[in-house]
Amino acid sequence: MIKHEEMVRGLAKSGADIAKDMSPARAHLVHMVMGVSGEAGELLDAIKKSAIYNKPIDMENVIEELGDIEFYLEGLRQGLNITREQTLAANIEKLGKRYEGLKYSDVSAQQRKDKQPGETHAKD
Ligand SMILES: [Mg+2]
Repeated sequence: MIKHEEMVRGLAKSGADIAKDMSPARAHLVHMVMGVSGEAGELLDAIKKSAIYNKPIDMENVIEELGDIEFYLEGLRQGLNITREQTLAANIEKLGKRYEGLKYSDVSAQQRKDKQPGETHAKD
């Protein structure tokens, strides 16, 4: 049986190959998407301190982290030539299909009527 570390060594794309294919436009997208993820972690930590440790919510920090996320989301949209309005319209359309009458239910969440049967890619 192959060892996991050997599998990773064999399957992970090399940094050299990634760097070879990296363009300024791709580097921008990587920067922006890493920023979204990093700032989401900071927001998570701010909420965790309240929800788990019973500290008061630090609203100043929450607003800061939401702003940071917005910064990176806008940078990502600019890099992909899409607008915030496009993303909101797509989200409204998706959720309108998923939730009949725009009313939440566990059944609707599980059925996901906005998806084609057999559609497997994660688009939540
Ligand atoms: Mg931040």
